[in-house]
Amino acid sequence: MTYDKNNIFAKILRGEIPCKKIYEDEFVLAFHDINPQKKVHALVIPKGEYVNLDDFSSKASEKEIAGLIRGIGTVAKKIGVSEVVKGGGYRSLVNVGENGGQEVPHLHFHIFGGEKVGKMVP
Ligand code: AMP
Repeated sequence: MTYDKNNIFAKILRGEIPCKKIYEDEFVLAFHDINPQKKVHALVIPKGEYVNLDDFSSKASEKEIAGLIRGIGTVAKKIGVSEVVKGGGYRSLVNVGENGGQEVPHLHFHIFGGEKVGKMVP
């Protein structure tokens, strides 16, 4: 699986394109989706060069895997959709490849919330 260093999220990670940053640490960067599908729509991406979840799950280190999952939890709290917040709750999903509808070839978890997110698969 070849990683395209010119994909839009790689450019965001390098600071070549701006984003509405929510959170950043050693392992992840999180920012608001440019075309939100729900009241709250955030993206959490690993800092490493991974095309998709297949690539990440087979090649990422234990630290990177833990860092990404913890990052998703941290971001959910930061944007106020975590279940620890009254009226919270959210959906996180990841699209993989052509059938999954993935558009940007750098692994990203979506976080949708701020309202009822509806049926899982429309
Ligand atoms: P996917 O279809 O899972 O690959 O989702 C790609 C997501 O990236 C879409 O929800 C887009 O709206 C979002 N997106 C594309 N370009 C940008 C950008 N420059 N900043 C923030 N989000 C973006």
